[in-house]
Amino acid sequence: MGEKPTKTPDWNLERWKAVRDLIAGWYGDDRPDSELVPELVEGLCGWMDAAQREVVEQLFAGWRAMYPKLADVAVDLDPPAVSVIDHAHRVELKAKPAFTLTHPSGEVEVIRLRTGSGGTSQAEAAVLHQEKAPGTFFVDAFVAAGSAEEIADPVDRPAIVERLVAAAGEPGPRRLIPGVHCFSCSSAPRCGQYPPAEGGRVFNSTRSLMVSKTLLDWVDVCQRRVAWDRLHQLPKDRDDEMELGGRLATGLLFHRTAAAAIGVEDPEPILAAAMRESSPSEASELRRLWDNHVRLWDEEGRPELRSTELWAGFTLMAPGIRVDSRGRSHEEPVAVTFVGALDATGREADGTPMVVEHRTGAGGDHGHLEAELYAVSAASLIGSRSGSPPERVAVHLHHLRPEDPHCERRVFERDDLASALASFGRVAGVMAGWHPVDSLSPPFQVGPWCGSCHHRRRCERFR
Ligand code: SF4
Repeated sequence: MGEKPTKTPDWNLERWKAVRDLIAGWYGDDRPDSELVPELVEGLCGWMDAAQREVVEQLFAGWRAMYPKLADVAVDLDPPAVSVIDHAHRVELKAKPAFTLTHPSGEVEVIRLRTGSGGTSQAEAAVLHQEKAPGTFFVDAFVAAGSAEEIADPVDRPAIVERLVAAAGEPGPRRLIPGVHCFSCSSAPRCGQYPPAEGGRVFNSTRSLMVSKTLLDWVDVCQRRVAWDRLHQLPKDRDDEMELGGRLATGLLFHRTAAAAIGVEDPEPILAAAMRESSPSEASELRRLWDNHVRLWDEEGRPELRSTELWAGFTLMAPGIRVDSRGRSHEEPVAVTFVGALDATGREADGTPMVVEHRTGAGGDHGHLEAELYAVSAASLIGSRSGSPPERVAVHLHHLRPEDPHCERRVFERDDLASALASFGRVAGVMAGWHPVDSLSPPFQVGPWCGSCHHRRRCERFR
């Protein structure tokens, strides 16, 4: 309990485990909180830096406020997992609650501890509800927000369970389905979707980090902001989590719709369905963006399409830091994976591989290294799949918002790809050098950009 991890910790998991252990220790000891809480926190979180520790303390306080110790409520600190066993397929599906409370009425509250923003998935809910005993109810306890939500029984539970059993029982290798979930997958540098751009092998024991095109903009502005997002996974300031602005929401809707509709013989039904689910203003903006897309696509002579919304990227090795169980730092290579979603890929008329980026916002230009990211990602993927990297890659930036849409085309020849790779190598070196267990070590840079930073409040407390 409370041991310092030796690899790059999954901070979301470390915090969850720490909060669970704190809660368990708290229920088992009747001393007053003023005496007990500091002792528990020191014992279980003493190895954490002050910022991480603050997060855990806030989460723990959230639980104590939500579930005070009550003499007539029995607490099970280690309830068994709820499981569904399918003997025919030799499959067991499990969902593990953190705690169970038995109330004086006899009702049993089975609690899933939630220290982040995500709740129980529909798949887990289906397993929980499969064998539900009378008088039992399941809740997600969101301790950061101080609220609990009942976990509903999914309407299509039998179908979900059937699908889970079938998927778990499938023999042979699973199909790779890259997506935004890759950011939380430790296998990303090894699965082949984001291959090492300079060759070599990434071992299971190699520390890894992932970075998106959005965060690339920030590495040279403030390292702390990127490190807190990608490496230390510190939660964002709550009040800064705002509703998506109208334009951003329409842009996301366009990207989702375009991913399904581009390349389809008759895209109109897909577009019509998306418009039906939108407000009238969103629907008309979606229509306009789509018409502009078609106009540019036609002007470019309808390229040969290969894919839409393809998650691609590449991995670079850079010298970094590893911390052993005694807290000593060692130098070791770290795998830094650069990832982007390529809106559309295909070939130009002469066979040049092309990547299309749809720009639906007001900002006109590519972000820092954005076009380079698309070009190197496409080149790496082609190289790793065909055995021979392409001579050049064209990146098309489609500005869809203006009345008069237009395309900016950049061609990356081999030399350009090599120099882009060198720029990514520099970024990888910076990121690999961040201390994995000390979120206060990456340098910060205060400036006008702090106004839009979602870590501003915590950052101000730890300067
Ligand atoms: S508030 Fe400013 S200095 Fe602090 S992490 Fe954000 S950008 Fe960096």
